[in-house]
Amino acid sequence: MARGTYDASVARLLLAEDDDGIRLPLARALEREGYAVDAVADGTSAATMGEENDYALIVLDIGLPGLDGLEVCRRVRRADADVPILFLTAQDSELDAVAGLDAGADDYVTKPFGLAELMARVRAQVRRSAPEVLRAADVAVDPSARRAWVGDHELDLTPKEFDLLELLVRNSGQVVVRDRIMDEVWDENWFGSTKTLDMHVSSLRRKLGDDAAAPTRVVTVRGVGLRFEA
Ligand code: CA
Repeated sequence: MARGTYDASVARLLLAEDDDGIRLPLARALEREGYAVDAVADGTSAATMGEENDYALIVLDIGLPGLDGLEVCRRVRRADADVPILFLTAQDSELDAVAGLDAGADDYVTKPFGLAELMARVRAQVRRSAPEVLRAADVAVDPSARRAWVGDHELDLTPKEFDLLELLVRNSGQVVVRDRIMDEVWDENWFGSTKTLDMHVSSLRRKLGDDAAAPTRVVTVRGVGLRFEA
């Protein structure tokens, strides 16, 4: 991600499965879930794609023509040790092989599998690997990188301004009461006046391009708290 820009690209998955009856509907289902999917039907392509690209998850059949899934896993892991791999196994003997794999599978699903079950496993693995980015309207917040954007413009925020924005965006559309803001952004031993909060809200509004007299992003709910408009 280039500094100052926000990359809105979705999580990209590699699906390697030679059975058309599984690969085609599974690729469609994953795309419906919002993932970008590269689907391949042989192990050689899977290894090459896995080595060259940075995937959020690889869904890997074991019985593949060319290279089998275990060998694909070994090669891909040499290029990117951290990429999550979810195996599709057909038999108990394959399951034993997965369990004994040095590189280790992150998870596996035994055929025949239900689509709902597989999707739940996929979501869990992608969540683990892909950084969470919070979004509300045209504002994006990346808590792990501590970066925030309005559209393509990266914001220059103080630590407290960032914490405040993250809390509000995480709860966008809902009122966040003042006590909770003070607890989560400042600490529970903070006994000062709420002037500090007001100052940070003003500054945050200015940086977000919000009109102080009639804010449309960070809205004050009089006597209660703040709401970030979704
Ligand atoms: Ca197969």
